[in-house]
Amino acid sequence: MIASHRFRFLIDYHRYRGGVVTLQAGLHSRSGERLAVQRKEGAIVFDPPLRYCPVCAHCLVEQDVGGVLRPVCSACSFIVFLDPKVVAVVVVWHEGKFLLGKRSIEPGKGKWSFFGGYVQRGEKVEEAAMREVKEETNLDVQIEGLIGVYSERGDPHVLIVYQAGVSNDQVKTLAVQAEEVSELSFFTWEELPPFAFPVDAQILEDWKQLNS
Ligand SMILES: [Zn+2]
Repeated sequence: MIASHRFRFLIDYHRYRGGVVTLQAGLHSRSGERLAVQRKEGAIVFDPPLRYCPVCAHCLVEQDVGGVLRPVCSACSFIVFLDPKVVAVVVVWHEGKFLLGKRSIEPGKGKWSFFGGYVQRGEKVEEAAMREVKEETNLDVQIEGLIGVYSERGDPHVLIVYQAGVSNDQVKTLAVQAEEVSELSFFTWEELPPFAFPVDAQILEDWKQLNS
């Protein structure tokens, strides 16, 4: 996974407030925290700007499409739909402990988290989940089940969270892949460190429900 996968510009087209269009754009973390926001009443702010039609390269303009402001091509009427971003997350559990990674990049730098990243278009979600763990830990894990699906209104991210196990033989191959994670460690429930993302606490609670 490249570093920018959890930290990139996304744009969400929002809502009418008192007849005035408000549009927000900014940096979002994996969990959807808005890290930088540009907001301007009565005007549209693109950050970064979407200027040109991907089909014919003419200028995009703002148009109301079924009650939602979207970039629409001024020449060919192509509508740009910005889809949700699907994130696969994996809770790796081995011999009574959680395997976590200490993040070496923002957001959440220096804090611990589960493994995960964006699902690629056309990729099977479970395979994306396993790929992300491999990329961050060098481990081949076995997906054991779904913990939950997490989303928030106004947040483009949809997290699909699995639990996974790893064999004793496989765990010997554990090796930190330094692009995003500076350290890997196993923690019991009682030893859990500060987590990078607010949603991690909910994931842990749901994991506990499933495994109690
Ligand atoms: Zn066009």
